Amino acid sequence: MIILKFGGTSVGTPQGMNQIREIITKDNNKKLVVLSALSGVTNTLVEIGERLRKKEHEQATKVIKKLQKRYDEFLEELFETESFKNRASAIIAESMNFIKSCLEKPFTNSIDKELLAQGELMSTNIFNLHLQEHELNSALINALDFVRTDAFSEPDEAFINKELSDILMKQPAETTLIITQGYICRNAEGNIDNLKRGGSDYTASLVGAALNADEIQIWTDIDGMHNNDPRVVDKTFSIPQLSFEEAAELAYFGAKILHPSCIRPAQKKTIPVRLKNTMKPEAPGTLIHTKEGSGEGIKAIAAKDGIVAIKIKSLRMLMAYGFLRRVFEIFEKYKTPIDVITTSEVAISVTIDNIYYLDSILSELRPFGEVEVDQEQSIICLVGNMVAEKPGLVSKIFASLQDVPVRMISYGGSRHNISVVVDTQYKSEALKRLNDGVF
Ligand code: ADP
Ligand code: ASP
Ligand code: MG
Repeated sequence: MIILKFGGTSVGTPQGMNQIREIITKDNNKKLVVLSALSGVTNTLVEIGERLRKKEHEQATKVIKKLQKRYDEFLEELFETESFKNRASAIIAESMNFIKSCLEKPFTNSIDKELLAQGELMSTNIFNLHLQEHELNSALINALDFVRTDAFSEPDEAFINKELSDILMKQPAETTLIITQGYICRNAEGNIDNLKRGGSDYTASLVGAALNADEIQIWTDIDGMHNNDPRVVDKTFSIPQLSFEEAAELAYFGAKILHPSCIRPAQKKTIPVRLKNTMKPEAPGTLIHTKEGSGEGIKAIAAKDGIVAIKIKSLRMLMAYGFLRRVFEIFEKYKTPIDVITTSEVAISVTIDNIYYLDSILSELRPFGEVEVDQEQSIICLVGNMVAEKPGLVSKIFASLQDVPVRMISYGGSRHNISVVVDTQYKSEALKRLNDGVF
């Protein structure tokens, strides 16, 4: 079985949905299709939630009306027959009624999660009816019935395996196209939740791993993983092949084309992940499949924003053992992962991106010595094969960044990765200069 995930820009227009139908009906093999919400809808639902939280009901109503109009126009253009259009309108009305009902009741976190789920619930219903209007054998299965997270907010893989297999077993043999929602799930308490923004990629990978799929395909609006962020740098190019490790690092360090966690489930089961462009299906895209990276040198650069750098300076660190352990224990206590670390004899710098417990962490660090905090930092991650052993590479990186103030540089920790931390205001400049200097 192949898993195909189509993102918001792919499902976001009636032409896009037609294109997806063509892609998934090229052959008659059984497929599981994971869909995002129409492009921009999750942002709109986030905005409605924020307005409701601030009790700005008038503005929320305006946004809801605009959303309704978008769906009305979408259905008008997509469906050819009145009967399918009416069936789709009735389903959209259910979600829209739920969204409107949020105006009438106290707004809670769990209502917010249910609100955010409506985008994927609507897009999958529309698409499934579209397939049926074209007389295709499709079935819609609800991700809320088989994607669940555990008490640590991590996907409950055993539950997904069992429930999804049971659901698929009940499908008639002639059903070749199974449609489901990305992003949405239930949490350990059984309430509606989600896998965080961009989470449809993660759903595709979790489902692919659960079913031991032959391949997981992520279809989007660009022809695969590019060597640098195409939103910032001109003339980036698509990378034909990546190892799981390289792709996982690029995703984790900000390459928006993939959800930060979505490579791990595929990597665990060695299931190839292919990144493709919905509007250019003939382009080869990127194949992520090998354990080890191939070739030498830097393959791609990505950047992750919203980073906080913390420096702890202490003369007590000099010649002392156990200092690092005591520092790290504080981060562990507050379940806050550290991304980049550099140390000198009297200081240690670390970066974090989860600032939920920042104040508590800082107050426990202060007794160790002088603590400095820099907010709004970015990690620039250079990924490749044995980058650390390639002669001349480091001097190229330093030469490229000679006019950019670098806060930290981490080199030698892994054969795949060199990380540089800069203030976010210098990120674009740094990405462009590195692009010129290292490729
Ligand atoms: P989807 O809605 O299909 O999930 P996303 O917007 O989440 O699409 O991801 C695709 C976008 O990721 C591209 O349009 C591109 O601007 C951005 N992007 C950022 N870094 C990269 C990269 N290294 N390679 C390819 N795309 C990237
Ligand atoms: N619709 C969700 C989002 O915009 C999930 C996804 O598209 O992957 O974040
Ligand atoms: Mg995405």
